[in-house]
Amino acid sequence: MTTRIPFGNLTPADLDQLYEAFETARYDAERLRAREHRFRTRALKAEAAVDHLTDKYRGAEAAVERVRALHQPVTSPYDGRTICTDCSGYGTGSCDAPPQPYPCPTIRALEPQEPRPGAGA
Ligand SMILES: [Zn+2]
Repeated sequence: MTTRIPFGNLTPADLDQLYEAFETARYDAERLRAREHRFRTRALKAEAAVDHLTDKYRGAEAAVERVRALHQPVTSPYDGRTICTDCSGYGTGSCDAPPQPYPCPTIRALEPQEPRPGAGA
């Protein structure tokens, strides 16, 4: 606890010390306000980046679901193999293209991939 000197008993040296402490406190307060402003700005930018990436992620997720909906497995009417509906051009019980076994290259490309050697973590 600080001992308070009655105002009338302050010496010029005490006043100088008080003014110096006041100026230091004011300088520190300005620095802290500027720092707070920088942090708030960074936080707002980080939030905007998270929102942007979340939108991109959801868009990519929806695109993957649309691709999966196109490339569905179906049993070939010719040989009983499981084939891809889209890659085989399957419709109304027949194929417009050579039967493509399921999972097709498109579906396999959507699966998690093993990292390539030397590709980093
Ligand atoms: Zn396919």
